[in-house]
Amino acid sequence: MPTYTYRCTICRHEFDYALTLAQHKPSQMCPACMNDAPQVFKPTNFKVPGAFWRHKDHGWDKNDEDD
Ligand SMILES: [Zn+2]
Repeated sequence: MPTYTYRCTICRHEFDYALTLAQHKPSQMCPACMNDAPQVFKPTNFKVPGAFWRHKDHGWDKNDEDD
């Protein structure tokens, strides 16, 4: 199950939720102050798919083609 990180814009409280895709929402209620906390996109969330794409598109692992 993917984990989503949210950060409250009011009190700056940061929290993680493990949610299914169906449960996932772009914001959650802050458990500290009950305000709306938008999702935070951390670089680690993109690392695996990003690396995969680059690897596929540009042949990342072999440097013998360019330069
Ligand atoms: Zn809050």
